[in-house]
Amino acid sequence: MQSRLFNRRERGGKVFVSPDYNRSMEQQREMTWKRIEYLLERGVFKGWMAGEGEDVEMKMFACSEVLGIFDHSISIKLGVHFVLWGGAIQFAGTQQHHDKWLRDTENFKIKGWFSTTELGHGSNVRGIETVTTYDSKTGEFVNNTPCESTQNYWIVGAAKHATHTILLSQLVINGTNEGVHALIAQIRDGDGNVLRNIRIADCGHKNCLNGVDNGRIWFDNVRVPRENLLSSVADVSPDGEYLSSIKDPDQRFSAFLTPMTAGRVNVAVNAVYQSKVGLTIAISANQVNFKDFLMLQLCYDLWSQLLENAACEEDTPIKQDHSRLLLHGVTCKILQECREDCGGQGLKTENRVGHLKAEHDVQSTFEGNNYILMQQTSWSRGVFIFRSKIREAPDIFRLVLYNSP
Ligand SMILES: Cc1cc2nc3c(=O)[nH]c(=O)nc-3n(C[C@H](O)[C@H](O)[C@H](O)COP(=O)(O)OP(=O)(O)OC[C@H]3O[C@@H](n4cnc5c(N)ncnc54)[C@H](O)[C@@H]3O)c2cc1C
Repeated sequence: MQSRLFNRRERGGKVFVSPDYNRSMEQQREMTWKRIEYLLERGVFKGWMAGEGEDVEMKMFACSEVLGIFDHSISIKLGVHFVLWGGAIQFAGTQQHHDKWLRDTENFKIKGWFSTTELGHGSNVRGIETVTTYDSKTGEFVNNTPCESTQNYWIVGAAKHATHTILLSQLVINGTNEGVHALIAQIRDGDGNVLRNIRIADCGHKNCLNGVDNGRIWFDNVRVPRENLLSSVADVSPDGEYLSSIKDPDQRFSAFLTPMTAGRVNVAVNAVYQSKVGLTIAISANQVNFKDFLMLQLCYDLWSQLLENAACEEDTPIKQDHSRLLLHGVTCKILQECREDCGGQGLKTENRVGHLKAEHDVQSTFEGNNYILMQQTSWSRGVFIFRSKIREAPDIFRLVLYNSP
């Protein structure tokens, strides 16, 4: 990376790069975008959406890690564009969605992000109140934000760059609420103008990630073509009939939402590189501290554990959440220790450790709130252990337990 965009600095014959946090929020956002364009022009994202296989995934993770070491904002913007927007189309869409949207996602002709959170519904995705109905006369879905608490909030890309978003809403067909579904909605034209019947506001300055343009969105009778419903789990026919092979709404919801939790692996990966950066800075600033070496060891042990967990097929979503919770807790401790080890220097933004703490902190909230994930993980672990104990138990006990109410 020889571009001046990455704030190249030479010290003692070595080249260092580091974002400049003294810039205003607007400047940081602009720089993040210019850096993405720079990487795009050099073909860094080639194959990320249109390609397939383990190689592509490993390349994405490696690139996200390296970019995140430089600046967490780039990694978040790319993560939401490729993993949430692109991933939703890959997993919840069908072949026609892949053909229509993935190539343009890869080359950023479409700048797509992901809208689930409402002002009044964050962790409770199932309770969101944005409504989508179907108009069979025109073959379009009609989307509405019914009240202030249902405005979409915190949406990455919404304040500035997004042209499209995946919109999660309650799908109401012929008066029946069929539950949460996802569709593709355009929010800006190619010149960056907000489309009719859509209102957007900026979430403003944050205590971290100011290179990311979070925004709020209101939909007022916004129409999108029927084909924009991501229909791998359920579809609506042209004359307005709801079609799904999964009849149970609970199973439908989890079949649809589970693949979209892949971003949680990214959160775990981020925790590891944040620890690495914090430890490297603290160790080099402190002429080596034994405690820091122990921390470094811990960090690499956790990294191996994460890889081991990810490699294990069984119970994968729970393993993702487990890794993420584990890494978050330890990384908080590591970064606090690094900050204290640097003394007052740890508070200088230029030295990055304090800033890393804030950027790590937000990870306990997005992509699933840690407290809720802790409850889900403990519950699933409990059920898993209970079931395996039953499998080991003599037949007579198994019958009793399985048949009890
Ligand atoms: C920088 C940033 C970027 C984001 N990007 C996006 C994005 O691109 N797209 C998007 O859709 N969203 C995005 N979000 C939103 C994020 O996903 C939500 O903030 C998150 O889901 C938590 O929701 P909330 O903020 O409403 O908090 P809440 O869910 O209201 O949680 C607040 C507190 O209540 C507790 N709580 C909530 N429910 C329960 C319960 N059932 N039992 C016990 N305790 C509970 C939580 O543990 C927490 O302590 C982003 C957020 C941030 C900060």
